[in-house]
Amino acid sequence: MVPGVRLVLLGKQGAGKGTQCVRLSRHYVVPHISTGDMLRSAARSGTDFGRQVAEYMRLGELVPDEVMIQVVEHRLDQHDTKNRGFILDGFPRTVHQAEALENLLNPRGLDLVLDLEVPTEVVLERLASRRVCSVCGSIFGIDNPPRRGAICDNCGGELVQREDDTEDSIRRRLELYASSTEPLISWYLDRRKLAAVDGLGVPERVTSRLIRAIDNRRHQLPDVGD
Ligand code: ADP
Repeated sequence: MVPGVRLVLLGKQGAGKGTQCVRLSRHYVVPHISTGDMLRSAARSGTDFGRQVAEYMRLGELVPDEVMIQVVEHRLDQHDTKNRGFILDGFPRTVHQAEALENLLNPRGLDLVLDLEVPTEVVLERLASRRVCSVCGSIFGIDNPPRRGAICDNCGGELVQREDDTEDSIRRRLELYASSTEPLISWYLDRRKLAAVDGLGVPERVTSRLIRAIDNRRHQLPDVGD
């Protein structure tokens, strides 16, 4: 069994974080923690909390830091993450969230933060073609089109466009990425936690690059296994 790992994936909307996190989570046998998926599932549940976060998401605004930090703290406190580790997708998104994460993870901290690099023109093209399975959440797009029209290759579910993949929301999310999340790249670089990985090309090739970066880092760490 491969040892566990504690990772964060950074990258613009449409950089391929969701697709890559699913693949990495299978490879390293660690849970994929997507704050976007958690919030979408809360929104579907129709609770007061769900209704509040749904509005932020529809507009492409960030859910307040304190709310997100509580959500993530609760998830990181579960057995699977404690035993094996995790891959965080969508958190942290602000320096304040990154600081809170450091406090939550003390003393061991993260093993590595991966920045999945894709130019803005490419993410815009990918977002326009992005379709997600309404049943299992699998993601398809120009780099990995579904085999049969609007039907999921994995479960046969109907493929739909994400509710927040509208032009206005995409523009706002990319703006917020640049102003609030991109500063994390130098923040983690200063802490010697960052590896930049080219996110262009078919998903398999990107996964190999990510695994290479993670395994390189693991060889440098004293003892990351369990
Ligand atoms: P994307 O990266 O394409 O914006 P996600 O699925 O990661 O999509 O997130 C969807 C929405 O959920 C965001 O636009 C935001 O409203 C909310 N969200 C997710 N994670 C966070 C976070 N860490 N902090 C604040 N808001 C968040």
